[in-house]
Amino acid sequence: MERHDVIVLGAGLAGLSAARDLDLAGTDVLVLEARARAGGRVEQTTAPDGRLVQLGGEIVGTFHTAYRQLVQELGLTLGSTFTSTTGETLWSLGEGAFVGDAPGWMTDADRAAYDRIEREFAKLSATVDPDDPWAHPDAEKLDRLSAADWVRAQGGTPAVLRALNLANRALATEPIERLSLLADLRKESAAGAGGFYDFEVWENERVLEGSATVALRMAEALGSRIRYSSPAAAVHVSDSGCHVQLATGEIIGASAIVSAIPVGPLRDIRITGVSDARLASLHWQRHARAAKIAVVYEESFWEADGCNGTTLQEETIIGGLWAQNTGILSGLIPPVSLGEYFATPAHLVQRELTAELVGLFGAQAGDYSCFYMRNWATDPWTRGYVTGWRPGDVTAVGPLHGTHEPPFYVCGSDQWVCGYMEGAVRTGRAAAAAVLGSA
Ligand SMILES: Cc1cc2nc3c(=O)[nH]c(=O)nc-3n(C[C@H](O)[C@H](O)[C@H](O)COP(=O)(O)OP(=O)(O)OC[C@H]3O[C@@H](n4cnc5c(N)ncnc54)[C@H](O)[C@@H]3O)c2cc1C
Repeated sequence: MERHDVIVLGAGLAGLSAARDLDLAGTDVLVLEARARAGGRVEQTTAPDGRLVQLGGEIVGTFHTAYRQLVQELGLTLGSTFTSTTGETLWSLGEGAFVGDAPGWMTDADRAAYDRIEREFAKLSATVDPDDPWAHPDAEKLDRLSAADWVRAQGGTPAVLRALNLANRALATEPIERLSLLADLRKESAAGAGGFYDFEVWENERVLEGSATVALRMAEALGSRIRYSSPAAAVHVSDSGCHVQLATGEIIGASAIVSAIPVGPLRDIRITGVSDARLASLHWQRHARAAKIAVVYEESFWEADGCNGTTLQEETIIGGLWAQNTGILSGLIPPVSLGEYFATPAHLVQRELTAELVGLFGAQAGDYSCFYMRNWATDPWTRGYVTGWRPGDVTAVGPLHGTHEPPFYVCGSDQWVCGYMEGAVRTGRAAAAAVLGSA
């Protein structure tokens, strides 16, 4: 039987970050990857005119220190994003379109309520330790509440709830009615407890050579240490030796296993030799599910109308858009409109979405050179998008979240506070350090 020191499952940012550090430390590491490519939820393609188009994870925030450190080590460059482009946001609501960075459709009283509740949210989130939310004295109570329940209890008006829901639609995360308050507080605590999700904080930097280039650079250096088109079907863990069985039946041995697989596909892998409590915790975790579009134009035509390309949309299949790069719009189909998206016959989806774009920006929006749709929600090797936490989930997953059971190590964005590329790199490198520390 083929044997290695460590087998890493999954060649996304987490698995690659872990394998890279293990490899650099002289460990004999093998990465098993289900797909025929590296990168997982970061993926890019080249449009016919040569521009790179990101179909998955794209943007980070300055506080994403693990990701930024890795980017620097790989010799790549960080630059600005849509948050620093000029122009204003477009709000597409049931009653009409509004242009303006401040939600002009809210009354002064609504905005005052929003600001007051955001300050309360910031104060409360500062009391949650992102690494140990379970230690909060009110953890269970905060976890049982939805973010919407809490906003209502603070005197949030319907317009305040609507503004928050619009933001979550654009982000394609769980709607606030089914989002654990504790999870939301934990997420914003990790970002510095400044208030509600702020695009300027979470989304102000990107890798200019292409976000997926981060993964591709690591994969290139690992070379034949990655085996592609090799889905793991079963894992056995033991102090006296672990092994992985591939879908083909082949068995490969190792002293330790690092799982860097998203929580959806992980449920399909038969894992033995790991405690029931850990498996229950891993299997409880879930994703918010989404699809992404990327539309390529000759230029950023929306700027001529004073728009920055950012939209927040209420009644459409698309939840929101932003300018990925010059002339390229990215958009997300949020969990709440996936039903309509998938129920639309395949040959009509693009037409429907194009009509939405034209409704937002006018006829020029129909004049694109490429239209990409990437269905992450149903991709068998992702089955989602980013970590989703419904009321009660933080408690049910419990403090085993993001921890290891040597020689079984767990990493991946799902094992951090709330997903994201930062979570993947941070937990991947931490898993490698844990393997090396216990070797
Ligand atoms: C549309 C979209 C937009 C996003 N936007 C952003 C963003 O702007 N900023 C941000 O920070 N984050 C964003 N994210 C999230 C971010 O991309 C992910 O959190 C991160 O890339 C996940 O990395 P990972 O290594 O944990 O998991 P993945 O990238 O999912 O990697 C897991 C790997 O495991 C493989 N695998 C699965 N099953 C098996 C198996 N049985 N055997 C072997 N291999 C298997 C998969 O093929 C995959 O390669 C976005 C995600 C999506 C989908």
